[in-house]
Amino acid sequence: MAKILIVEDEPHMLSGLKDNLEFEGYNVDTASDGSLGLNKILHTGFDLIILDVMLPNISGFDICKKARKEGIETPIIFLTAKSEEIDKVIGLETGGDDYITKPFSLRELLARVKAVLRRAQHTDAIAEESKEIQIGNLTVNFDTYNAFLNKKPIKLSIKEFEILHCLWRRKNGTVTRNILLDEVWGFDYQPTPRTIDNFILKLRQKVEDDPNRPNYILTMHGIGYKLVIS
Ligand code: CA
Repeated sequence: MAKILIVEDEPHMLSGLKDNLEFEGYNVDTASDGSLGLNKILHTGFDLIILDVMLPNISGFDICKKARKEGIETPIIFLTAKSEEIDKVIGLETGGDDYITKPFSLRELLARVKAVLRRAQHTDAIAEESKEIQIGNLTVNFDTYNAFLNKKPIKLSIKEFEILHCLWRRKNGTVTRNILLDEVWGFDYQPTPRTIDNFILKLRQKVEDDPNRPNYILTMHGIGYKLVIS
């Protein structure tokens, strides 16, 4: 099973992540500050590093830079408390593979971990994944949470994948907003119909050639949406 290092200075967060990843079967090592983390990264082999950005001694960004400079190519997921675009850009520019903004759900983190590990292990074999589907120029793998438009990787949020999956399961049929609410949001949190419409708008901007004249995700006025596959 994959070996994961978590570098995080908040004890509660660190133990929570460790327990949950171990429960999923991963082999987990931890470091509670920047220099300890860097030391482990430089001297131990890991399959994935979950790296907090705000750390005592050395920031997560600097750790990543140093590790990459030493030729360590282990995938890195940054944990950041800020949602500013600038942080995400810096994170990816320093050589990180993904980032996740606190607060995040466990489900989201596990999906990212799985996706990054798969990406690292099967970079060339993604096309052979069994759950890969084709919607026009869009290729989606609901197993690994990877999506490609015109063969270029695009970033969809977990919710966007779930919406797409829900529509896909009923392709060429109308999906009511209530079905989307139940299957994507569940019963614990009920967004307004307007929220769903906003998610669909954002999704169209990512997957449609012309979001204003959608070819795939059609609006069924007053009812919901329909994913059209020819
Ligand atoms: Ca921190």
